[in-house]
Amino acid sequence: PVYLDHNATTAVAPEAVQEMIDVLERVWANPSSTHGPGQAARRLLADARNRVATFLGCQATELVFTSGATEANHIALLGALARGKAEGCTRLVLSAVEHPGLLALAARLRSEGTPVELIPVNASGQLNLEAARALLGPDVALLSVMGANNETGVLMPVRELAELARAQGVPFHVDATQLVGKSGLRFDASGADLWSLSAHKLHGPKGVGALLIRRGLSWPALQAGRQERNRRGGTENLPGIVGFAAAAERAARTLADDLAHLRALRDQLEASLKALHPAVQIHGDGVARLPNTVCLRFGTLDAEQVLNKLERAGVVASSGAACTASGTQPSHVLLAMGATALEAKASVRLSLGRHTQEREIAHTVAVVRRVIVPLLAAADVDVE
Ligand code: PLP
Repeated sequence: PVYLDHNATTAVAPEAVQEMIDVLERVWANPSSTHGPGQAARRLLADARNRVATFLGCQATELVFTSGATEANHIALLGALARGKAEGCTRLVLSAVEHPGLLALAARLRSEGTPVELIPVNASGQLNLEAARALLGPDVALLSVMGANNETGVLMPVRELAELARAQGVPFHVDATQLVGKSGLRFDASGADLWSLSAHKLHGPKGVGALLIRRGLSWPALQAGRQERNRRGGTENLPGIVGFAAAAERAARTLADDLAHLRALRDQLEASLKALHPAVQIHGDGVARLPNTVCLRFGTLDAEQVLNKLERAGVVASSGAACTASGTQPSHVLLAMGATALEAKASVRLSLGRHTQEREIAHTVAVVRRVIVPLLAAADVDVE
């Protein structure tokens, strides 16, 4: 099928597969062992760390390998509360459109007594900076805002938030999972103190990612143990980490071309879909977004019905976050943007990738014209 769900995950790059196989077959010793094979694994780990750090714009010592963004987000939030406690920094300030995994953790913390406040977004999904400013104060343990939204692709004002946070002495965490590989922003230039990401969103393997912690900032570990400079215990996932490095290197090499390619196809897809029917509404239309993400609705046609029709015609995509696709809850992101429950449940996300081809976009538009547009005519939708 035409795969338009790259924000959920991407294919593993051939370079990453090759390097991973090589590690699995040859470099399987424990990097903590002091014998020769262990030291060879240790050198490979250090090399992979340098490669990933070069791509992300951080120092090797600022990089902690984790099992992915979810774990990195947990270290960021739970670590912030642990370190803030002594100074009376107890509040968490997050955007209302964070990833469901991060919001679920925040909900758990709130039920246990942590004050959690959410920064609202406008109808286009843009963060309200004034509200962010008003919520920040010296008693905030962490400001956490994603770099780009996974459902709409809308970019968040990372540099401006970094300034606000710095002015108040508040640590600033960015869930950069969707940003990496789809934006030129790097950790050093972002002004953030912490970054979370997952390798599988940029053609690396699943189950590996990183938390970047700005040099000089001490951050409590969740997993005790001496690996990762005492910041994340447990034997390192060397095959995954090397695959991550290979994917990062590949992404660095082709980033400019990838971005131009994605943007051209995305623009073509949006223009063609809008031309099909006036009920096609694109969320975040006209605001700064990732170059690969189209979140839209066909009037109020139910997303599940739309996705079924598309898949039967050979196009796979998803509604909102993949993790909530099985549920019938409307997307919290679209509700935060002021959509009605009906509108939110009608929204689908088409996310393009490095290997998406022009003929696949043309095919997708043809499929929508053939199987979705007739439904719109039948439903006699309201057109605003
Ligand atoms: N944060 C964002 C913005 C995401 O898009 C995702 C991916 O679903 C995650 C966090 C979680 O990533 P992972 O499931 O790899 O831990």
